[in-house]
Amino acid sequence: MTAVVEMEDVTFSYGETPAVRDVTLTVEQGDFLGLVGPNGSGKTTLLHLMLGVHTPDSGRIELFGTPVSEFEEGERIGYVSQGSTDRSGTMPVTVRESVLMGRFAHVGYGRIDDEDRRAVDEALETVAIADLADRQLSQLSGGQRQRAYIARALASEADLLALDEPTVGVDAESRDAFYSLLDSLNEDGITIILIEHDIGVVTERADHIACLNTELYHHGDSASFVESDALEEAYGSTSRVLEHSH
Ligand code: ADP
Ligand code: MG
Repeated sequence: MTAVVEMEDVTFSYGETPAVRDVTLTVEQGDFLGLVGPNGSGKTTLLHLMLGVHTPDSGRIELFGTPVSEFEEGERIGYVSQGSTDRSGTMPVTVRESVLMGRFAHVGYGRIDDEDRRAVDEALETVAIADLADRQLSQLSGGQRQRAYIARALASEADLLALDEPTVGVDAESRDAFYSLLDSLNEDGITIILIEHDIGVVTERADHIACLNTELYHHGDSASFVESDALEEAYGSTSRVLEHSH
């Protein structure tokens, strides 16, 4: 089976000091990977490298078996960038229109047809915001907007969801519901890479954990991460971190 992401010895610097150093990491189809690490540890940078936003200084990255620089199947990836759920957005679009944008890769230069409309309705149902379809995206709460972004990825029939701190600013109840949604998408076979600042929650929900602080301190199943010293080593001190877990 082709891996979804394969990174080998990847190093990347914005300036002099590497933000990501010597990272070797494979994400298999169907994985639910939690990517954790302190602020500024290179999580967003690593995700950007995986998705081809940045080109590594050295090392090799493949996405679905293709060198990321040559990868052209963008519709296979649903990406929710950091902070996107608390930006209200200035574009006057409805939720439905926003989700429909996820179909553009399929529509090409053709017209939107019934299949596209069905895919949009289905995606809205899956994330349980069908009743908000005709609202302006900017009028939604952070948690609802986050569902709209996921719906857009689902409408595009993405098989990788990459989410960068999607639960920041979302209340605990909505966050639990959101995690349950991710679980069921993952059960349907969608690969998930989730950057999450709440370690307690992510170790409970994700099946794999990658713990980063410029270098990779741990990559393996969640249970072995909890038992390892990686957390302490990467963060410097566990006590402050564990305060946030539930
Ligand atoms: P995280 O997502 O774990 O908080 P980032 O990947 O955003 O970490 O950042 C890793 C390091 O790279 C930090 O030291 C940050 O200041 C630096 N960095 C991030 N983006 C840029 C940029 N565009 N230009 C220069 N330095 C950056
Ligand atoms: Mg970040």
